[in-house]
Amino acid sequence: MTHFDVVINGAGMAGAVLALGLAALRRPDGSSLSIAVIEAAPPDFDAHPGFDARSIALAWHSRELLEQLGLWARLAPLATPITHIQVSDRGHFGRVEMTASEYRVPALGYVVELTPVGQGLYRQMAERPNIRLLCPARIKEFVQQPDNIVLTLDDGAAFSAALLVAADGNRSLVRRQLRLPCRQLDYGQCAVIANVESAEPHRGRAFERFTPEGPIALLPMSQGRSSLVWCASHERAKALMALDDAAFLAALQREFGYRLGRLVRTGERHRYPLVLDEVERPWHHRLVLVGNAAHLLHPIAGQGFNLGLRDVAALAAALRQALADGRDIGSHGVLSGYGRARQPDQAAIVGLTTALALLFSSDHPALAAGRNLGLTAMAACPSFKSQLAWRAMGKR
Ligand SMILES: Cc1cc2nc3c(=O)[nH]c(=O)nc-3n(C[C@H](O)[C@H](O)[C@H](O)COP(=O)(O)OP(=O)(O)OC[C@H]3O[C@@H](n4cnc5c(N)ncnc54)[C@H](O)[C@@H]3O)c2cc1C
Repeated sequence: MTHFDVVINGAGMAGAVLALGLAALRRPDGSSLSIAVIEAAPPDFDAHPGFDARSIALAWHSRELLEQLGLWARLAPLATPITHIQVSDRGHFGRVEMTASEYRVPALGYVVELTPVGQGLYRQMAERPNIRLLCPARIKEFVQQPDNIVLTLDDGAAFSAALLVAADGNRSLVRRQLRLPCRQLDYGQCAVIANVESAEPHRGRAFERFTPEGPIALLPMSQGRSSLVWCASHERAKALMALDDAAFLAALQREFGYRLGRLVRTGERHRYPLVLDEVERPWHHRLVLVGNAAHLLHPIAGQGFNLGLRDVAALAAALRQALADGRDIGSHGVLSGYGRARQPDQAAIVGLTTALALLFSSDHPALAAGRNLGLTAMAACPSFKSQLAWRAMGKR
Protein backbone atom coordinates (compact mmCIF):
# COMPACT_ATOMS: atom_id res chain seq x y z
CA MET A 1 0.00 0.00 0.00
CA THR A 2 1.37 3.46 -0.89
CA HIS A 3 2.28 5.52 2.17
CA PHE A 4 2.20 9.34 2.30
CA ASP A 5 3.57 11.49 5.06
CA VAL A 6 0.57 13.83 4.84
CA VAL A 7 -2.83 13.50 3.17
CA ILE A 8 -4.82 16.74 2.81
CA ASN A 9 -8.53 16.37 2.15
CA GLY A 10 -9.80 19.42 0.24
CA ALA A 11 -7.86 21.76 -2.04
CA GLY A 12 -9.57 25.12 -1.51
CA MET A 13 -7.49 28.07 -0.26
CA ALA A 14 -6.48 26.39 3.01
CA GLY A 15 -5.69 22.93 1.58
CA ALA A 16 -3.79 24.20 -1.49
CA VAL A 17 -1.69 26.70 0.48
CA LEU A 18 -0.92 24.07 3.12
CA ALA A 19 0.13 21.52 0.49
CA LEU A 20 2.54 24.02 -1.08
CA GLY A 21 3.87 25.13 2.30
CA LEU A 22 4.51 21.54 3.41
CA ALA A 23 6.04 20.57 0.05
CA ALA A 24 8.93 22.93 0.77
CA LEU A 25 9.83 21.37 4.17
CA ARG A 26 12.94 19.19 4.46
CA ARG A 27 14.05 16.56 6.94
CA PRO A 28 17.56 16.87 8.37
CA ASP A 29 18.72 14.36 5.67
CA GLY A 30 17.40 16.69 2.95
CA SER A 31 14.43 14.52 1.94
CA SER A 32 10.99 16.11 1.51
CA LEU A 33 7.52 15.06 2.68
CA SER A 34 5.32 13.02 0.35
CA ILE A 35 1.90 14.68 0.17
CA ALA A 36 -1.41 13.57 -1.33
CA VAL A 37 -4.18 16.12 -1.87
CA ILE A 38 -7.71 14.79 -2.36
CA GLU A 39 -10.21 17.20 -3.94
CA ALA A 40 -13.83 16.35 -4.70
CA ALA A 41 -14.36 19.02 -7.38
CA PRO A 42 -12.86 18.63 -10.86
CA PRO A 43 -10.18 21.25 -11.73
CA ASP A 44 -12.74 23.42 -13.53
CA PHE A 45 -12.37 27.01 -12.40
CA ASP A 46 -15.67 28.11 -13.94
CA ALA A 47 -17.46 26.22 -11.17
CA HIS A 48 -15.10 25.43 -8.30
CA PRO A 49 -16.59 25.54 -4.78
CA GLY A 50 -13.26 26.62 -3.24
CA PHE A 51 -12.39 29.24 -5.89
CA ASP A 52 -15.64 30.89 -6.93
CA ALA A 53 -16.54 34.49 -7.82
CA ARG A 54 -15.52 35.78 -4.35
CA SER A 55 -12.76 38.31 -3.80
CA ILE A 56 -11.20 38.29 -0.36
CA ALA A 57 -9.12 40.77 1.60
CA LEU A 58 -5.76 39.49 2.82
CA ALA A 59 -4.42 41.36 5.83
CA TRP A 60 -0.88 42.76 5.74
CA HIS A 61 0.24 40.00 8.12
CA SER A 62 -1.16 37.38 5.70
CA ARG A 63 1.16 38.75 3.04
CA GLU A 64 4.07 38.21 5.48
CA LEU A 65 2.92 34.61 6.12
CA LEU A 66 2.56 33.93 2.39
CA GLU A 67 6.09 35.30 1.92
CA GLN A 68 7.39 32.91 4.59
CA LEU A 69 5.61 30.03 2.84
CA GLY A 70 7.27 31.07 -0.45
CA LEU A 71 3.93 31.82 -2.13
CA TRP A 72 3.63 35.61 -2.20
CA ALA A 73 5.81 36.29 -5.27
CA ARG A 74 3.35 34.51 -7.57
CA LEU A 75 0.27 35.93 -5.82
CA ALA A 76 1.45 39.55 -5.78
CA PRO A 77 0.58 40.28 -9.45
CA LEU A 78 -3.02 39.21 -8.67
CA ALA A 79 -3.36 41.42 -5.59
CA THR A 80 -4.81 44.95 -5.38
CA PRO A 81 -3.33 46.92 -2.45
CA ILE A 82 -5.66 48.50 0.13
CA THR A 83 -4.04 51.80 1.08
CA HIS A 84 -6.95 53.44 2.87
CA ILE A 85 -9.82 52.04 5.00
CA GLN A 86 -12.89 54.05 5.92
CA VAL A 87 -15.39 52.73 8.49
CA SER A 88 -18.67 54.66 8.82
CA ASP A 89 -22.24 54.29 10.04
CA ARG A 90 -25.06 55.55 7.81
CA GLY A 91 -27.05 58.38 9.35
CA HIS A 92 -24.44 59.05 12.09
CA PHE A 93 -21.36 61.23 12.15
CA GLY A 94 -18.90 58.71 13.69
CA ARG A 95 -16.23 57.68 11.18
CA VAL A 96 -12.74 56.17 11.27
CA GLU A 97 -10.12 56.52 8.53
CA MET A 98 -6.86 54.59 8.36
CA THR A 99 -4.11 54.92 5.81
CA ALA A 100 -1.12 52.71 5.05
CA SER A 101 1.25 55.69 5.30
CA GLU A 102 0.14 56.38 8.92
CA TYR A 103 1.37 52.90 9.85
CA ARG A 104 4.43 52.99 7.56
CA VAL A 105 3.42 49.93 5.52
CA PRO A 106 3.01 49.83 1.73
CA ALA A 107 -0.56 48.53 2.13
CA LEU A 108 -2.98 47.77 4.98
CA GLY A 109 -3.93 44.62 3.07
CA TYR A 110 -4.63 43.25 -0.40
CA VAL A 111 -7.68 42.06 -2.31
CA VAL A 112 -7.41 38.90 -4.41
CA GLU A 113 -9.97 37.22 -6.64
CA LEU A 114 -10.29 33.57 -5.73
CA THR A 115 -10.65 32.15 -9.26
CA PRO A 116 -7.25 33.28 -10.66
CA VAL A 117 -5.63 32.56 -7.28
CA GLY A 118 -6.97 28.99 -7.44
CA GLN A 119 -5.67 28.51 -10.98
CA GLY A 120 -2.23 29.67 -9.87
CA LEU A 121 -2.17 27.45 -6.77
CA TYR A 122 -3.18 24.38 -8.82
CA ARG A 123 -0.40 25.12 -11.36
CA GLN A 124 2.10 25.32 -8.50
CA MET A 125 0.86 22.05 -6.96
CA ALA A 126 1.29 20.34 -10.36
CA GLU A 127 4.91 21.59 -10.50
CA ARG A 128 5.88 19.97 -7.17
CA PRO A 129 7.08 16.39 -7.60
CA ASN A 130 6.23 15.54 -3.97
CA ILE A 131 2.53 16.55 -4.27
CA ARG A 132 0.09 14.05 -5.75
CA LEU A 133 -3.22 15.74 -6.55
CA LEU A 134 -6.10 13.23 -6.64
CA CYS A 135 -8.95 15.12 -8.26
CA PRO A 136 -11.84 14.58 -8.58
CA ALA A 137 -11.76 12.06 -5.74
CA ARG A 138 -13.43 11.48 -2.38
CA ILE A 139 -12.56 9.53 0.74
CA LYS A 140 -14.95 6.62 1.24
CA GLU A 141 -13.60 5.76 4.67
CA PHE A 142 -10.61 6.32 6.91
CA VAL A 143 -9.44 4.25 9.85
CA GLN A 144 -7.23 5.78 12.55
CA GLN A 145 -4.64 3.20 13.58
CA PRO A 146 -1.99 3.72 16.25
CA ASP A 147 0.85 4.42 13.78
CA ASN A 148 -1.00 5.69 10.70
CA ILE A 149 -4.34 6.40 9.06
CA VAL A 150 -5.59 4.06 6.35
CA LEU A 151 -7.76 5.74 3.72
CA THR A 152 -9.93 4.23 1.02
CA LEU A 153 -11.23 6.39 -1.82
CA ASP A 154 -14.54 6.05 -3.66
CA ASP A 155 -12.76 4.38 -6.60
CA GLY A 156 -11.34 1.69 -4.27
CA ALA A 157 -7.75 3.04 -4.15
CA ALA A 158 -6.26 2.66 -0.67
CA PHE A 159 -3.22 4.22 1.02
CA SER A 160 -1.87 5.11 4.43
CA ALA A 161 -0.59 8.36 5.94
CA ALA A 162 1.13 9.55 9.09
CA LEU A 163 -1.21 12.57 9.22
CA LEU A 164 -4.59 13.46 7.72
CA VAL A 165 -5.45 17.18 7.44
CA ALA A 166 -9.10 18.06 6.90
CA ALA A 167 -9.24 21.20 4.75
CA ASP A 168 -12.54 20.17 3.21
CA GLY A 169 -14.53 23.24 4.18
CA ASN A 170 -17.53 23.78 6.34
CA ARG A 171 -19.33 20.56 5.32
CA SER A 172 -16.17 18.60 6.12
CA LEU A 173 -16.61 14.89 5.55
CA VAL A 174 -13.82 14.16 8.02
CA ARG A 175 -15.55 16.21 10.70
CA ARG A 176 -18.91 14.53 10.04
CA GLN A 177 -17.46 11.03 10.16
CA LEU A 178 -15.82 11.74 13.52
CA ARG A 179 -18.96 13.53 14.83
CA LEU A 180 -16.78 16.26 16.35
CA PRO A 181 -18.70 18.61 18.67
CA CYS A 182 -19.28 22.07 17.11
CA ARG A 183 -20.59 25.46 18.20
CA GLN A 184 -23.07 26.89 15.71
CA LEU A 185 -24.91 30.17 15.41
CA ASP A 186 -27.21 31.20 12.59
CA TYR A 187 -26.78 34.96 12.01
CA GLY A 188 -30.12 35.05 10.14
CA GLN A 189 -28.33 36.85 7.30
CA CYS A 190 -26.92 36.29 3.83
CA ALA A 191 -24.00 37.99 2.09
CA VAL A 192 -24.73 39.25 -1.40
CA ILE A 193 -21.56 39.71 -3.44
CA ALA A 194 -20.95 41.43 -6.78
CA ASN A 195 -18.20 43.32 -8.58
CA VAL A 196 -19.18 46.96 -9.04
CA GLU A 197 -17.86 49.68 -11.35
CA SER A 198 -17.95 53.29 -10.18
CA ALA A 199 -17.52 56.65 -11.89
CA GLU A 200 -14.61 57.53 -9.55
CA PRO A 201 -11.57 55.25 -9.32
CA HIS A 202 -11.20 53.44 -5.97
CA ARG A 203 -7.56 54.57 -5.54
CA GLY A 204 -6.92 51.70 -3.11
CA ARG A 205 -9.78 52.71 -0.82
CA ALA A 206 -11.77 50.06 1.10
CA PHE A 207 -15.06 50.99 2.73
CA GLU A 208 -16.98 49.30 5.53
CA ARG A 209 -20.32 51.05 5.98
CA PHE A 210 -22.89 50.04 8.56
CA THR A 211 -26.44 50.67 7.43
CA PRO A 212 -29.90 49.73 8.71
CA GLU A 213 -29.93 47.36 5.71
CA GLY A 214 -26.84 45.56 7.08
CA PRO A 215 -23.05 46.10 6.78
CA ILE A 216 -21.74 46.92 3.30
CA ALA A 217 -18.09 46.43 2.38
CA LEU A 218 -16.60 47.68 -0.89
CA LEU A 219 -13.03 46.55 -1.47
CA PRO A 220 -10.70 47.80 -4.21
CA MET A 221 -10.06 45.19 -6.89
CA SER A 222 -8.64 44.76 -10.39
CA GLN A 223 -9.61 46.94 -13.40
CA GLY A 224 -10.71 49.78 -11.12
CA ARG A 225 -13.70 47.75 -9.87
CA SER A 226 -14.78 47.31 -6.25
CA SER A 227 -15.80 44.02 -4.72
CA LEU A 228 -19.07 44.31 -2.82
CA VAL A 229 -20.09 42.23 0.21
CA TRP A 230 -23.52 43.27 1.46
CA CYS A 231 -24.80 41.42 4.51
CA ALA A 232 -28.57 41.56 4.97
CA SER A 233 -31.49 39.58 6.37
CA HIS A 234 -32.51 36.55 4.27
CA GLU A 235 -35.63 38.36 3.00
CA ARG A 236 -33.71 41.52 2.07
CA ALA A 237 -30.93 39.51 0.42
CA LYS A 238 -33.49 37.57 -1.60
CA ALA A 239 -35.08 40.85 -2.69
CA LEU A 240 -31.64 42.30 -3.62
CA MET A 241 -30.92 39.23 -5.73
CA ALA A 242 -34.25 39.64 -7.56
CA LEU A 243 -33.68 43.30 -8.55
CA ASP A 244 -32.52 44.14 -12.05
CA ASP A 245 -29.04 45.67 -12.28
CA ALA A 246 -30.22 49.30 -12.38
CA ALA A 247 -32.49 48.88 -9.34
CA PHE A 248 -29.76 46.99 -7.46
CA LEU A 249 -27.23 49.77 -8.14
CA ALA A 250 -29.78 52.39 -7.06
CA ALA A 251 -30.41 50.52 -3.78
CA LEU A 252 -26.68 50.22 -3.17
CA GLN A 253 -26.09 53.89 -4.00
CA ARG A 254 -28.80 54.90 -1.50
CA GLU A 255 -27.13 52.94 1.31
CA PHE A 256 -23.49 53.52 0.40
CA GLY A 257 -23.64 57.12 -0.83
CA TYR A 258 -21.28 58.75 -3.32
CA ARG A 259 -17.87 57.93 -1.82
CA LEU A 260 -16.95 56.34 -5.17
CA GLY A 261 -19.09 58.69 -7.25
CA ARG A 262 -21.94 57.18 -9.23
CA LEU A 263 -22.09 53.39 -9.26
CA VAL A 264 -22.36 52.58 -12.96
CA ARG A 265 -22.29 48.82 -13.46
CA THR A 266 -22.61 45.60 -11.49
CA GLY A 267 -21.44 42.09 -12.32
CA GLU A 268 -23.26 38.88 -11.50
CA ARG A 269 -24.59 38.62 -7.93
CA HIS A 270 -24.09 35.61 -5.64
CA ARG A 271 -25.54 34.88 -2.21
CA TYR A 272 -24.05 33.06 0.81
CA PRO A 273 -26.00 32.20 3.99
CA LEU A 274 -24.05 33.33 7.07
CA VAL A 275 -23.50 31.03 10.03
CA LEU A 276 -20.83 30.54 12.63
CA ASP A 277 -19.72 26.92 12.72
CA GLU A 278 -16.75 26.14 14.89
CA VAL A 279 -15.25 22.80 15.94
CA GLU A 280 -14.55 22.82 19.67
CA ARG A 281 -11.29 20.89 19.40
CA PRO A 282 -9.87 20.86 15.86
CA TRP A 283 -7.45 17.99 16.32
CA HIS A 284 -7.84 14.24 16.85
CA HIS A 285 -5.75 11.11 16.62
CA ARG A 286 -3.38 11.62 13.61
CA LEU A 287 -5.70 14.26 12.29
CA VAL A 288 -6.15 18.06 12.32
CA LEU A 289 -8.75 20.40 10.83
CA VAL A 290 -7.81 23.74 9.26
CA GLY A 291 -9.59 26.64 7.55
CA ASN A 292 -13.37 26.50 7.16
CA ALA A 293 -13.38 22.84 8.22
CA ALA A 294 -12.38 24.12 11.67
CA HIS A 295 -14.21 27.48 11.74
CA LEU A 296 -16.68 29.15 9.40
CA LEU A 297 -17.01 32.86 10.24
CA HIS A 298 -19.21 35.83 9.42
CA PRO A 299 -17.38 37.79 6.68
CA ILE A 300 -17.96 41.14 8.43
CA ALA A 301 -14.31 41.94 9.14
CA GLY A 302 -12.82 39.81 6.33
CA GLN A 303 -11.17 37.43 8.80
CA GLY A 304 -12.04 33.92 7.49
CA PHE A 305 -9.09 32.98 5.32
CA ASN A 306 -6.73 35.25 7.26
CA LEU A 307 -7.44 33.07 10.30
CA GLY A 308 -7.24 29.89 8.18
CA LEU A 309 -3.87 31.01 6.86
CA ARG A 310 -2.56 31.50 10.39
CA ASP A 311 -3.66 27.88 11.11
CA VAL A 312 -1.86 26.69 7.98
CA ALA A 313 1.34 28.64 8.73
CA ALA A 314 1.35 27.44 12.36
CA LEU A 315 0.82 23.82 11.29
CA ALA A 316 3.66 24.07 8.75
CA ALA A 317 5.91 25.53 11.49
CA ALA A 318 4.94 22.75 13.95
CA LEU A 319 5.70 20.05 11.37
CA ARG A 320 9.01 21.75 10.41
CA GLN A 321 10.04 21.64 14.08
CA ALA A 322 8.91 18.00 14.44
CA LEU A 323 11.01 17.02 11.39
CA ALA A 324 14.03 18.87 12.78
CA ASP A 325 13.61 17.06 16.13
CA GLY A 326 13.12 13.67 14.42
CA ARG A 327 9.59 13.36 15.85
CA ASP A 328 6.58 11.61 14.28
CA ILE A 329 4.62 14.41 12.54
CA GLY A 330 1.28 12.73 13.30
CA SER A 331 1.99 12.13 16.99
CA HIS A 332 -0.36 13.35 19.71
CA GLY A 333 2.29 15.67 21.16
CA VAL A 334 2.90 17.48 17.86
CA LEU A 335 -0.79 17.84 16.96
CA SER A 336 -2.08 18.80 20.40
CA GLY A 337 0.79 21.31 20.75
CA TYR A 338 -0.27 22.88 17.45
CA GLY A 339 -4.00 22.76 18.31
CA ARG A 340 -3.65 24.28 21.77
CA ALA A 341 -1.38 27.06 20.52
CA ARG A 342 -3.99 28.04 17.93
CA GLN A 343 -6.99 28.12 20.27
CA PRO A 344 -6.60 31.68 21.70
CA ASP A 345 -6.39 33.26 18.22
CA GLN A 346 -9.34 31.21 16.95
CA ALA A 347 -11.46 32.10 20.02
CA ALA A 348 -10.56 35.81 19.75
CA ILE A 349 -11.50 36.03 16.07
CA VAL A 350 -14.74 34.06 16.51
CA GLY A 351 -15.64 36.41 19.40
CA LEU A 352 -14.70 39.55 17.45
CA THR A 353 -16.60 38.66 14.26
CA THR A 354 -19.68 37.52 16.17
CA ALA A 355 -19.74 40.68 18.31
CA LEU A 356 -19.31 42.90 15.24
CA ALA A 357 -21.96 40.97 13.29
CA LEU A 358 -24.49 41.34 16.11
CA LEU A 359 -23.60 44.94 17.02
CA PHE A 360 -23.45 46.31 13.50
CA SER A 361 -26.49 44.50 12.16
CA SER A 362 -28.85 45.95 14.73
CA ASP A 363 -30.90 49.07 14.21
CA HIS A 364 -31.73 49.41 17.93
CA PRO A 365 -31.25 53.13 18.83
CA ALA A 366 -29.08 52.36 21.89
CA LEU A 367 -26.76 50.15 19.87
CA ALA A 368 -26.64 52.65 17.00
CA ALA A 369 -25.69 55.40 19.49
CA GLY A 370 -23.04 53.13 21.06
CA ARG A 371 -21.57 52.35 17.65
CA ASN A 372 -21.46 56.00 16.76
CA LEU A 373 -19.74 56.86 20.04
CA GLY A 374 -17.30 53.99 19.48
CA LEU A 375 -16.38 55.20 16.00
CA THR A 376 -16.08 58.81 17.20
CA ALA A 377 -13.92 57.77 20.16
CA MET A 378 -11.75 55.65 17.90
CA ALA A 379 -11.26 58.50 15.47
CA ALA A 380 -10.29 60.80 18.36
CA CYS A 381 -8.07 58.38 20.25
CA PRO A 382 -4.96 57.29 18.33
CA SER A 383 -4.29 54.23 20.51
CA PHE A 384 -7.85 52.82 19.98
CA LYS A 385 -7.55 53.53 16.31
CA SER A 386 -4.15 51.94 15.96
CA GLN A 387 -5.46 48.80 17.71
CA LEU A 388 -8.19 48.63 15.08
CA ALA A 389 -5.68 49.26 12.30
CA TRP A 390 -3.25 46.57 13.48
CA ARG A 391 -6.17 44.17 13.85
CA ALA A 392 -7.18 44.96 10.25
CA MET A 393 -3.59 44.22 9.24
CA GLY A 394 -3.81 40.85 11.01
CA LYS A 395 -1.51 41.65 13.95
CA ARG A 396 -2.76 40.98 17.46
C1 LIG B 1 -18.93 36.62 1.06
C2 LIG B 1 -17.63 36.20 1.68
C3 LIG B 1 -16.60 37.11 1.80
C4 LIG B 1 -15.40 36.73 2.39
N1 LIG B 1 -14.41 37.66 2.54
C5 LIG B 1 -13.25 37.30 3.13
C6 LIG B 1 -12.20 38.26 3.30
O1 LIG B 1 -12.31 39.42 2.90
N2 LIG B 1 -11.05 37.85 3.89
C7 LIG B 1 -10.90 36.57 4.34
O2 LIG B 1 -9.83 36.26 4.89
N3 LIG B 1 -11.88 35.64 4.20
C8 LIG B 1 -13.02 35.98 3.60
N4 LIG B 1 -14.01 35.05 3.44
C9 LIG B 1 -13.77 33.67 3.90
C10 LIG B 1 -12.93 32.88 2.90
O3 LIG B 1 -13.52 32.93 1.62
C11 LIG B 1 -12.85 31.43 3.39
O4 LIG B 1 -12.38 31.45 4.72
C12 LIG B 1 -11.90 30.58 2.57
O5 LIG B 1 -12.13 30.71 1.19
C13 LIG B 1 -12.09 29.13 3.03
O6 LIG B 1 -11.18 28.29 2.43
P1 LIG B 1 -11.07 26.75 2.86
O7 LIG B 1 -10.07 26.16 1.95
O8 LIG B 1 -10.89 26.61 4.31
O9 LIG B 1 -12.52 26.12 2.57
P2 LIG B 1 -13.34 25.95 1.21
O10 LIG B 1 -13.20 27.13 0.34
O11 LIG B 1 -14.71 25.54 1.61
O12 LIG B 1 -12.62 24.73 0.46
C14 LIG B 1 -12.88 23.39 0.77
C15 LIG B 1 -12.43 22.53 -0.40
O13 LIG B 1 -12.66 21.16 -0.04
C16 LIG B 1 -13.34 20.50 -1.10
N5 LIG B 1 -14.14 19.43 -0.50
C17 LIG B 1 -15.30 19.54 0.17
N6 LIG B 1 -15.73 18.31 0.57
C18 LIG B 1 -14.80 17.43 0.13
C19 LIG B 1 -14.68 16.02 0.24
N7 LIG B 1 -15.59 15.28 0.86
N8 LIG B 1 -13.58 15.43 -0.31
C20 LIG B 1 -12.64 16.19 -0.96
N9 LIG B 1 -12.72 17.53 -1.10
C21 LIG B 1 -13.79 18.14 -0.56
C22 LIG B 1 -14.17 21.58 -1.77
O14 LIG B 1 -14.48 21.22 -3.11
C23 LIG B 1 -13.23 22.79 -1.67
O15 LIG B 1 -12.35 22.86 -2.77
C24 LIG B 1 -15.23 35.40 2.86
C25 LIG B 1 -16.28 34.48 2.73
C26 LIG B 1 -17.46 34.87 2.15
C27 LIG B 1 -18.57 33.87 2.03
